[in-house]
Amino acid sequence: MPFPRSWLDRALDLFQRHAVLGMALILLLSLSGLSWGLHQAFNQQLQNAALKNAQLYTTILSEFRSLYTSEVVARASAHGMTVTHDYQGNPQAIPLPATLSMLLGNRLGQQSSGASTRLYSPYPFPWRAQEGGLKDDFGQQAWQALQAAPEQPFYRFERRGDQLVLRYATADRLREACVDCHNNHADSPRRDWKVGDVRGILEVEQPLDSAGLSARPLQIETAIVSLSILALFSTLLALVVGRLHRAREQAQSLSQEMSLINRSLEREMLERQQVEVDLRSANDRLELLATQDPLTKIANRRGFERALSLEWRRAQRQGSPLSLIMADIDNFKAYNDRYGHPAGDHCLQRVAAQLQAQIRRPPDLLARYGGEEFVIILPDTTAAGAYAMAEAEAMRNAVYELQLEHSDSTTAHYLTLSLGIATLIPTADSSAQDLLQDADRALYRAKAAGRNRVEADQVRVSI
Ligand code: GH3
Ligand code: MG
Ligand code: MG
Repeated sequence: MPFPRSWLDRALDLFQRHAVLGMALILLLSLSGLSWGLHQAFNQQLQNAALKNAQLYTTILSEFRSLYTSEVVARASAHGMTVTHDYQGNPQAIPLPATLSMLLGNRLGQQSSGASTRLYSPYPFPWRAQEGGLKDDFGQQAWQALQAAPEQPFYRFERRGDQLVLRYATADRLREACVDCHNNHADSPRRDWKVGDVRGILEVEQPLDSAGLSARPLQIETAIVSLSILALFSTLLALVVGRLHRAREQAQSLSQEMSLINRSLEREMLERQQVEVDLRSANDRLELLATQDPLTKIANRRGFERALSLEWRRAQRQGSPLSLIMADIDNFKAYNDRYGHPAGDHCLQRVAAQLQAQIRRPPDLLARYGGEEFVIILPDTTAAGAYAMAEAEAMRNAVYELQLEHSDSTTAHYLTLSLGIATLIPTADSSAQDLLQDADRALYRAKAAGRNRVEADQVRVSI
């Protein structure tokens, strides 16, 4: 799917470009999440600690009150002492259990946890009309809840300014020792109390920020640690990314350098190849020059010898006959003398071209053997056959038919050729030299016989 891919690619590109920022953001979010989680966990811990504290407080006060009622109030009453809220100033009076337990609660709160206690009821004694009674919404709700389930504490956390407090309310139930007093006291607001009735509410108010329960130092510490980690990580990341960036730039410049070197190597290779091509063609030209006669443009003596050696070996392998014609211009010295050397050169060119024109088979080769002498190699050709004779005759005729005037010739009015033919089937005992000698001998005989003729080597004419 190209659409989401391109978005993913774009996002990845963006991240790659702003890696430090991106990673720092991710780290910041992770640290924020972590510190929020820690904060939540710590708050929970705080609340649990506050609840435990309030619970302990309530238990202490309640137990103290029971103990005071059973162990002190009963005895004091039996000895004629008055038990009253208004005990101060009266040496024969001791405080009511509720009054004393409230005093104890407040003392304890001032000493340590900052907690405060209150005992209140919708049925206050007249002297407590001011401080007793259900003063607020929490009081109303707690009364309702404790009426319904006296065993269950009722509590909630409330914010007071920037402070969180726990309000923990438990049912203050009438003990057996107290029922009579509450029903018979002259100022009692109600007189039908039974044992276990919820007489009032004992509320412990526990500030969470006091008594070492504050979350703030930890929050500050967490923030400082988080920010330090963030700064350290960002610095390290910036260093690493910077190094990576530099490494990438180095790699890029290295690869650019490499590609430059590669390109120059390629250029050098091309140049070398061109040099090789030039060299080969120069060699070919040299080879040609080495084997070509510059005047007549046919093969020279060297070319001839190379070709003869090749054809000799091939004929030896195949057991086929190899013929050689040796041709020599008649009275050429006289021609030069009569018409001049340049005319002689021109004459040599005409004769070479005419002889070349007679050659029709590709393996046959015409060469200038030297001076005014020519040789024709005829592979796979017998002398016995009229073919070789006819071929030599054709050459003699062709030159004659050029009708190159030679007034000083001893044979004809025109330039003529004498030709000698030799043929051999190469064997291990014979050599190309033998063939040359045979042809030369035949040529000599043609000369001796009066020139302008063809002679075949008679020694091996039977082939
Ligand atoms: P023969 O009929 O017996 O062959 O007599 P010839 O005069 O042809 O033979 P000879 O060997 O006496 O003379 C050959 C002459 O060929 C001598 C030389 O001046 C001439 N010649 C050889 N090479 C060249 C050449 O490249 N150019 C010219 N113009 N003449 C050449
Ligand atoms: Mg000659
Ligand atoms: Mg000659």
